[in-house]
Amino acid sequence: MQKSRKVKYYLPYSLSFALCLPNACVADTALLAIDVGHSTMHPGAISAYGKPEFAFNVDLAKSIQGVVTSYGIPSLQIGNDGQTTDLTQRTDRAHRAGAKFFLSVHHDSVQPQFLKSWQWQGKTNYYSEHASGFSLFVSRKNPFLPASLHCASAIGSVLKQMGFHFTSHHAESMPGESKEWADKYNGVYYSDDLIVLKTAKMPAVLFEAGVIVNREEHIIQKPELRNKLAEAVTKGLLNCGVLINGIYP
Ligand SMILES: [Zn+2]
Repeated sequence: MQKSRKVKYYLPYSLSFALCLPNACVADTALLAIDVGHSTMHPGAISAYGKPEFAFNVDLAKSIQGVVTSYGIPSLQIGNDGQTTDLTQRTDRAHRAGAKFFLSVHHDSVQPQFLKSWQWQGKTNYYSEHASGFSLFVSRKNPFLPASLHCASAIGSVLKQMGFHFTSHHAESMPGESKEWADKYNGVYYSDDLIVLKTAKMPAVLFEAGVIVNREEHIIQKPELRNKLAEAVTKGLLNCGVLINGIYP
């Protein structure tokens, strides 16, 4: 079992004194719902090397849960069994469990016109060099938009500090993209009709960790990079204060 780490360093200054007295942080920390995007039946994007997005999402969600646990944050994984195809069931489950924040974990692709075919281990796969990097999404239909956006920005900021870059391809003017920036300095877009974001009854962010049709970005599946992403997400969540009971509804 991993030893709990102190979270005091990452809290806003105004909160750290009051809420992080010795051994008090864990007791004051609220439940995080980690939603594993897609399912066995609908696995999402297929990477340049033929690996389904769902498998990437399962691994990253597991890493995030490992890191948040090490910081004393309780969490719940949703959809990691691959059987949850109804998206509203995911947010309902988070609500019933009393989650204070909903983080949906995904990996990204590009529009079909940017995909090219290539051969890998005797099979035809599709890749693109059109985009690389993470992105974060919030919905203006979520009842807690300010908290959602505050946390998405905080996560993007830490990701940048840790050496990751965000992709701007979702803002390109074309069918399927044309997303409006919510925070263009930290890689956050509005995507108002994403089901899990708009049906969540708590602040919610969808995280696209990287563009897996990009052959160079495929390395984010490596455990060291995955854990670095998980560290960044955790620190961002601690920085925005959403998991501290009493800060947000
Ligand atoms: Zn996805």
